[in-house]
Amino acid sequence: MAIQRTFSIIKPDATKRNLTGAVNAKIEAAGLRIIAQKRIRMTRANAETFYAVHKDRPFFGELVEFMISEPVVVQVLEGEGAIAKYREVMGATDPAEAAEGTIRKEFALSKGENSVHGSDAPETAAEEIAYFFAGMEITG
Ligand code: ATP
Ligand code: MG
Repeated sequence: MAIQRTFSIIKPDATKRNLTGAVNAKIEAAGLRIIAQKRIRMTRANAETFYAVHKDRPFFGELVEFMISEPVVVQVLEGEGAIAKYREVMGATDPAEAAEGTIRKEFALSKGENSVHGSDAPETAAEEIAYFFAGMEITG
């Protein structure tokens, strides 16, 4: 498996509860490298654009309000098969269905307030990284 990059967000429920370091420890323990990271406050436009694929879902409004409710930490992760590996480390969307030891099993509060985002495919990873980071912010 090739070295890949994926995009991660430590969501408001986690930053609010001081879990940035705990989430990062899980990421690094899985062998993923945090090659870029910054704490930002998403605007409503950022959140609506980022989750545009879900705009017709009943939870969209709630999701946008949640993502702008507190700062988030956006990251670029790198490693062998990073996209699938990070999805595995994150666990299922709903923490009640997430496997033992995953970030969402340990930290998520609900299906909505589920602590982290990770890209789901190479194309979305590239788009999401380019939306949040300038090339010179990623040092490898
Ligand atoms: P993400 O895209 O954030 O990495 P995911 O790929 O596991 O999560 P998606 O189906 O893409 O899950 O949903 C995006 C986000 O929308 C979820 O992470 C969660 O925060 C929220 N969400 C999804 N389903 C629901 C729901 N039924 N109720 C409330 N919020 C939801
Ligand atoms: Mg998703």
